[in-house]
Amino acid sequence: MNQTQQTQQTQKTFRRLLSYVKNYRVGFIMAVVGMLIYSSIDAFFFSQIQTFIDEGLTGKNYQLLFTMGVAIPFVFLARGIANFLATYSLSWVGNHIVAELRQQIFDHLMKVPVTFHDQNATGELLAKITYDTEQVQQASSKALMTLVREGAFVIGLLVVMFYLSWQLSLIFMLIGPLVGLIVSHVSRRFRMVSRRIQQAMGNVTSVSEQMLNGHKVVVMSGAQKKEADKFAEINKQTRQQQMKLVSTRAISVSAIQIIASLALASVLIIASNPEFLNSLTTGTFTTVLTCMMTLLRPLKQLTTINADFQRGIAACTSVFELLDQDREKDHGRIQVQRVKGHIELKDVTFSYGGKDEAALKAVNLTIPAGQTIALVGKSGSGKSTITSLLTRFYEYDSGHIRIDDIEIKDYQLQSLRNQFAMVSQHVILFNDSVANNIAYGLEKQVTREQIEAAAEAAYVTDFTANLPQGLDTVIGENGMNLSGGQRQRVTIARAILRDAPILILDEATSALDTESERRIQQAIEKLSINRTVIVIAHRLSTIENADCIVVMNDGEVVESGSHTDLLNRQGAYHQIYQMQFSGAS
Ligand code: ADP
Ligand code: MG
Repeated sequence: MNQTQQTQQTQKTFRRLLSYVKNYRVGFIMAVVGMLIYSSIDAFFFSQIQTFIDEGLTGKNYQLLFTMGVAIPFVFLARGIANFLATYSLSWVGNHIVAELRQQIFDHLMKVPVTFHDQNATGELLAKITYDTEQVQQASSKALMTLVREGAFVIGLLVVMFYLSWQLSLIFMLIGPLVGLIVSHVSRRFRMVSRRIQQAMGNVTSVSEQMLNGHKVVVMSGAQKKEADKFAEINKQTRQQQMKLVSTRAISVSAIQIIASLALASVLIIASNPEFLNSLTTGTFTTVLTCMMTLLRPLKQLTTINADFQRGIAACTSVFELLDQDREKDHGRIQVQRVKGHIELKDVTFSYGGKDEAALKAVNLTIPAGQTIALVGKSGSGKSTITSLLTRFYEYDSGHIRIDDIEIKDYQLQSLRNQFAMVSQHVILFNDSVANNIAYGLEKQVTREQIEAAAEAAYVTDFTANLPQGLDTVIGENGMNLSGGQRQRVTIARAILRDAPILILDEATSALDTESERRIQQAIEKLSINRTVIVIAHRLSTIENADCIVVMNDGEVVESGSHTDLLNRQGAYHQIYQMQFSGAS
C-alpha cells in the first residue's frame, strides 16, 4: 500500500468511526465544551498572575488580594465541574461505542461461515472482542482529549504571553519548535523500541510455553541444550532492547531540559538590557516566564497525538475488517417443518479452502428415509466432511446434495439445520445445569417432563441420581465435572429432545470404554427408530446392523452394501473386518 492509499484508508476508517459517534452526539459535544471551559479557566488563571504581583503585592492592594482569595475556590470549583463534565461525557460516549462494537463482533462471529473460524485462531478473535475494542476507545479518547484540551491551553497561554510582552514571547517561539522537534524524534524512537520489546517478550513467552508444554519430549530427546540456547538468544535480545529504552529515556529527559534552559538563558540575557528591563513590570516578567515553563508539558503531549490516533485507527481497522467478513450464504427460501429424510449425494466434489487435494471426489450416495447408513474407512477419508456438507458448514464445489429431492442450498439455512441432530466425539457442553444443557438451543417450548424423559432414555438419570441437585446440578465449564461417557449421554439426551428427522453420529462412542459404550449404544438404538441415521464408527461391531455400509477411502466411495454382502465380496470392508478381529483393536 502506498502513502496516499494508506491516508485514504485511514480517512475511511475514521469516517466510519465517526458514524458511531453520531449516535452519541450530545455526549460528545458536552465533552468538548467541558474541555474548552477547563482550558480557558487554566489560561485565565495564568493571566491573573501579573495583576496579582503588580497590583496586589507590589501595589499593596489589600482589597484585591482579599477578592482574589475569595474567588480562588470558586474558580477551582468551576474547573472541577468542567473536568467532570469532560471526563464523564467522553467516557460515556467511548464506553457506549465499545459496547456497540463488542456486540456487533459477537453477533457477527455467529454469522460468518465455518471456514472463517477454521482460518482464525480463537485467541486472536477473543483479543478483538476484548482488547481491540478497548483500544479504539482509549486511544481515540486520549487523542481527542489532548487535541482539544491541551491545544486550547497552549493557545490560551500564548495569547496571555503575547498580550503581556510580545518581545519575550518571540524568543520562545524561536526556541519552542526546536524542543518540539527533539521531543517528537525521541518519542518516535521510543515507540519503535517499545514495539520491539513487545515482540521480544512475545518470543520469551512462546519459547517458554513450547518448552513447558513439550517438556517430556524435550527431556526424552535430550534437547535441553538446544532449547536453552534458543532461550538465551531471545533473552539477550530482550535485555538489550530494554537497555536501549532506558538510555533513550534518560538522554531525552536531559536533552529537553538543556534546550529549555537555553530558552530561559536567552530570556534573561535579553532582559538584562536596562532599556528593555525598564519597560517590563515584575508581574509581566514572571507571568511570561511561568507561561513558557508551563507550555512544555502540553506541547510534549500534543506531539503524541498522532501516535495515539494511529493506534486507535489500527484497532478500528482490525475491528472493521472482522465486521466486513462475508456472512454465511443464506439465499434459500424453502422452509420446512420436518423433512422425511431422504438424502441423496450426486457427484459431490469438495476441497477445503487452501488445499489442493479434494476431500471428497465425485461422491454418490443415497440414503432412503428412515434407514441407517454407516460410513467406515480410515481417518482422513472424508467421512466427517460428508456430514459437514449436509449441514452446510461448507459449500460443495460441484455436484448436488438433495434432501427430499430439494437441493439443500434452496432451504433456508436455519430450517435446514433444524432437521439434524448431531452427536460427535467432541462434546460441547455449557457451564449450566444438566437439564439446561439437554434443552440447549431448542426453539420450541419443552416441559420439565420432556427433559426428564430424554434424560431417562439416554441413561443420564443413572448418574444424576447421585448428584446433589440431580438434573439441576451445574456441570462446570464444558462439563468438567462429568466423565467422558456421562458427557456423551447428555448430548444424546439433547439429540433425543431435539427430535430431528436426521441423526448424525460421528464417532460418538469412540472415546469411551466398552462398558460406557454398551450403555450409550442402547440409548442410540432407541434414538434411531423412525429416523434417517448416518453413523460413523471405528468399531465395526457397532454398525453391523446398519441397512447399508459405505466404505470410503481418500474421499471416494469404494464399496457399499450390507454387512454380509460386503464380507462375501472379500474387498476393502472384509480387510478392515479381518484386521479388527485379528485382535488389532
Ligand atoms: P474423516 O472424518 O474420515 O477422518 P475428514 O472428513 O475429517 O476425515 O477429513 C478429510 C480430509 O479433509 C482430511 O485430509 C483432512 O485433513 C481434511 N480436513 C478436514 N477438516 C478440514 C478443515 N477444517 N480444513 C482443512 N482440511 C480439513
Ligand atoms: Mg472424522
